Amino acid sequence: MAQVLFIVILVILAVDFILERLLAFLNIKESGKELPALLRNIYDPEKYAHQQDYFRTNSRFGMLSSTFSFIVTLAMFAFGGFAWVDGIVMQYVQNPVWSTVVFFGIIFIASDIIGIPFDWYDTFVIEERFGFNKITPKLFILDKLKGYGMMIVLGGGLLSLVVWIYTLTPEYFWLLAWGVITGFSLFMTMFYSQIIVPLFNKQTPLEEGELRTEIEKFATKTGFNLDNIFVIDGSKRSTKANAYFSGLGAKKRIVLYDTLIDKMSNEEIVAVLAHEVGHYKHKHTLINFLISMPTTLILFYVFGLILHSDALAQALGGSVASFHLNALAFSILYSPISILLDIITNVLSRKFEYQADAYAAKHGYGIQLQTGLKKLTATSLGNLMPHPLYVFFHYSHPTLYQRITRISA
Ligand SMILES: [Zn+2]
Repeated sequence: MAQVLFIVILVILAVDFILERLLAFLNIKESGKELPALLRNIYDPEKYAHQQDYFRTNSRFGMLSSTFSFIVTLAMFAFGGFAWVDGIVMQYVQNPVWSTVVFFGIIFIASDIIGIPFDWYDTFVIEERFGFNKITPKLFILDKLKGYGMMIVLGGGLLSLVVWIYTLTPEYFWLLAWGVITGFSLFMTMFYSQIIVPLFNKQTPLEEGELRTEIEKFATKTGFNLDNIFVIDGSKRSTKANAYFSGLGAKKRIVLYDTLIDKMSNEEIVAVLAHEVGHYKHKHTLINFLISMPTTLILFYVFGLILHSDALAQALGGSVASFHLNALAFSILYSPISILLDIITNVLSRKFEYQADAYAAKHGYGIQLQTGLKKLTATSLGNLMPHPLYVFFHYSHPTLYQRITRISA
């Protein structure tokens, strides 16, 4: 049994890697195709050559880093690396809660450290060369340290709580753990902007001035409170622009990047804001949260069933069932299902984007939203011609072409 599971795990890892490489390959081929008329005015020929260079550089780099990470992961599974780490942890830590936390702590820190050279190269070589990077090495290191701190407090805290529940009641573990995770994610959905974002960025209310007046006109018309609109200092990390909606109920907020405000006309900014208000009006955050509840419940139910299986631990080279080895094996065995769920999530998310676009267009900002989206794409050297299959698997937003076609329809 353990032997079969071992082979299944390796096959899943390999198939996933091959699928990703195939999608990336299709995407590169597609990018060289001639642009449809609607997209020809976004880049001038020189800028388009620059964009193609950026796209190809990123694709090559993605190929290199994902191949590296695939080889390391495969080797860890194939040569019993996880069982080896488990053996060392078990020597020093007998408590089942602590041993799991220490085990995942080691795996997380080790894989993050292995990834640092890649992150560094991406930020300080690629993004720098194309003029996007604003991060200083000091801020890069500070971000990393804060990320670790957050992982220790939130990740470690949550993990120890879940394992502790399992030691108390293996029978009802799935239900209680699901309750804890659901409660935590509801809390995070609501307070993310107030608790996590301030660790990394400054959010300020909209300044007095023309933009605020312009936004006020729209906001009062649609009943969205101006106090829930913030500007974030995204420019301390990158010149790329963005905007997003987050939170639920009284904790809702729209966040505009300062880089977005720099690059767009006031009317275009209001159009982007109208799109975000559209997400709010259509209750997209709430729907996403409600959908995640049953899928997480199924995940925990299946997870609870296999947690005591010795074969799963043995597939990784261990001897008896342990929370962390079984969890790790389960995460791979479950990954085909989670890929499927990701596809469904993306299909739904793209539908939501169309709805939010339609909301902005309905309020008279269709033209400005189109020019705004074109500017956003151009200033971030966005890819105009992604392969449809790549979009199907990975895009949370429709392509620029799809969006402007739909808005102007
Ligand atoms: Zn959106």
